[in-house]
Formats: sequence, structure tokens, C-alpha cells
Amino acid sequence: MTLARLSDVLRPCLTDGTAISGLVVLGWEDAVAYVRAGEAEARPVILQAGPGARAHTPLPVLAAMFRTLAEGASVPVVAHLDHGESLVVCRQAVELGFTSVMYDGSALPLEENIARTAEVVAMAHAQGVSVEGELGFVGYANGAQSLGTDPAEVARFAVETGVDALAISIGNSHLMTAPGAEVDWPRLQAIQAAAPALPLVLHGGSGLAAELRRSLAKTTICKFNIGTELRQAFGSALRASLARDLARFDRIQILSDTIPPLTEAARLVIRSLRSD
Ligand SMILES: [Zn+2]
Repeated sequence: MTLARLSDVLRPCLTDGTAISGLVVLGWEDAVAYVRAGEAEARPVILQAGPGARAHTPLPVLAAMFRTLAEGASVPVVAHLDHGESLVVCRQAVELGFTSVMYDGSALPLEENIARTAEVVAMAHAQGVSVEGELGFVGYANGAQSLGTDPAEVARFAVETGVDALAISIGNSHLMTAPGAEVDWPRLQAIQAAAPALPLVLHGGSGLAAELRRSLAKTTICKFNIGTELRQAFGSALRASLARDLARFDRIQILSDTIPPLTEAARLVIRSLRSD
């Protein structure tokens, strides 16, 4: 298989009752585990390079990692830039071979969010790359407060920007360490009605219980971003690996043992986005 575009993997999810997992990658071991999980579940996976990963590892390295994994995978793999803060970083990602970029203008006034997102779409679509935008603001657990997506702005945002996917704020929050988010269903229904053919995205998937995710996957929400839950799985796996033998010192040995449990954790995430 090879690199896939975001729009290609999300489109079937508008109607088939499923969604695709956008998995937050922080290093080689988790990226390998996520692709293995997608293969084991026979589902596409979206590998995401967010601001934290980019601050730790240069974007060209992450790009090469994603490309290499995609080339060897038996399922479609999307290489996605998460929370791109500017046209510059989105353009750099496109030039490096990412097949999807998120431009996050959610903190900007509506007019500016539309104008800047449209610029990124024009640049990316010229290279066959998909774009995710955000309308409303998805806040952070113990941090910035969310601002719910206004359904009245959705159709205009979709038409004037031309985005391939839209991240929305309906009660979801980033960085939740346990499920507990409550979804504003009437708001979601109004958003869907305003743009029925536009795949929606939920950031903060770790805060949504598996049963809730399964229900939400039946709507036009086609992508769930999952980070915290998998970072927790990695932390536990790493501790267990170190505790297995206190004389261990080899990095490859220590880290390799995190891959199987992380693969299992990612398989559970993928299964929670399927209706069967
Ligand atoms: Zn996010």
C-alpha cells in the first residue's frame, strides 16, 4: 500500500457508520505500533505529527518516518500534520510529502480563520494534499476553555474555505486523562445538517468513552484524534519494560518491548470506531 489522502480515507465514513483514528505519534515505536494495529484490524490509519512531536523531532524526520511506514504497510496510511499554526509550516509539510495538513485558525476571528484556511487549501490542493480546518475552539483539560462550534457559521466556512474535513467543538476537550466529556447532540445535529457532505473531526478523543465513540462514528464524524490514552499506554508499557529486568540499559531492548502493548491499545481504539 502507500500513502493515502485524508479525503480518500474519510469519504466512506460519511455513510458506513465508522470513523478513522488519527493517532498522535511521538516517536518511532508508537508509529510502528499504530501501523501494525491498522494492519491487524484491516483499517486505514492516520499518523499525526502535532506541535509537541515537531518541537522534539524535526518535521523532515517525522515525514520520512511516516513515508517509510506507509510504503511498507498493507493498509492506507495518511501522513497528517496536526495543528499547523501557519501557512509556512503547512507548506513545509506539503513539500515534505505529508498527504494531509490541519490548519488551526480556531483562535482567530471568523473572517480571518476563513481567509487563512482558504490560503492553505489553495496551496495544499494544488499539490493533491487534503486540509482539515477548525471552527469553534476545542479547549484543553485544565487549560483554555472550549467555545462550541456555531452551526450558523458552518456552511459558509465549508464553502468559502473548501476544506476536506472540519474539526468541531461539541463538548470534546484535549488532554483528558479519562473519559467524561459530554456531547452536545443538538449542536452536532445542527452542524451535520449545515454541511451533510463534509467529514467532521473530533479532537480530544481520549475523553470520550468507547461506547460514546461508537455512537458518534455513526454520524458524519469521520475522524477521532487520539493522543492521551495512547501516551498513557506507552508510559505503562515503558515502566513495565524497565521493571522486567533492573539491569536493562539498552535503549532498543527497552523500547522494543513497548510496541506489542501499544499495538494492542491502538487496536482497541480502532475497534471503538466501528459499529460491528
Ligand atoms: Zn487537537
